[in-house]
Amino acid sequence: MSRQKVLELKELSHIYVNASGAHLAVDHIDLTVYKGEFISLVGPSGCGKTTILNMIAGLIAPTYGELTMLGEAITSPSSRLGYMQQQDYLYPWRTILQNVMLGLEIRKEANAQSKQKIISLLDELGLEQSADKYPHQLSGGMRQRVALARTLITDPDLLLLDEPFSALDLHIKMQLEELVQSTLDRLGKTAILVTHDLAEAVAISDRVVVLGRNPGHIRKIVTIPRELRAAGPIEARKHPSYQACFDEIWYELDEEMERGGKGCRIT
Ligand code: ADP
Ligand code: MG
Repeated sequence: MSRQKVLELKELSHIYVNASGAHLAVDHIDLTVYKGEFISLVGPSGCGKTTILNMIAGLIAPTYGELTMLGEAITSPSSRLGYMQQQDYLYPWRTILQNVMLGLEIRKEANAQSKQKIISLLDELGLEQSADKYPHQLSGGMRQRVALARTLITDPDLLLLDEPFSALDLHIKMQLEELVQSTLDRLGKTAILVTHDLAEAVAISDRVVVLGRNPGHIRKIVTIPRELRAAGPIEARKHPSYQACFDEIWYELDEEMERGGKGCRIT
């Protein structure tokens, strides 16, 4: 059975233009993402990770290249896509239920059944009894789960996650990785995660896209061995295949840091 293509990026490029001039941020990105895949983007700060996600989300337009989701060009934000942005704040004056409801209200999908749907999703994400609380009453890890619930409630085909775990303690972060991977697996969702944590990328992904900078480009795409993927993020870190995979990505990034980007490559 051939795999369904959820997302196709062809020669995707973006130039920011502002008062100080034009800046090529992302240069010719080619990537096909298949249904059910978990892809991580890793690379140095400023290599264009958020720019790529913003283009996929339909928030900014590619300057050059093609971008299609389920065979259709992405030209504006779509309800088939859920985006958990780097700073995905919850509204302090809204309860947890109301914060998650917002995901539906924006899409005019809130109705009589919504409340029950949200409560069962909160339960699944380990947030039972949190529905009527306010964000300040929850821990950082719980608030991130609420933000995830808000992203999942609209049942998107594709999830974009920009460093959702970066501010959390290691222990909470690993629990959340486990929860995200198992939830997405069970729901058959496709996801693209931006992370600066290589250990996380190796432990949670099917493929890791290593990006270089100046301008942002793909250096290498590393396929994570099946046994690591099957193990789940916490167990994967203890697996015999884990270190070799981590080292391969580490080496790529180390080379990238030494070269200081594509523009500085000595040919
Ligand atoms: P990353 O998420 O990998 O840290 P970004 O996508 O945020 O990288 O940024 C990529 C490059 O584009 C950086 O050089 C950054 O300074 C530049 N950039 C990002 N946003 C803008 C903007 N709105 N205007 C001009 N340049 C920008
Ligand atoms: Mg970013």
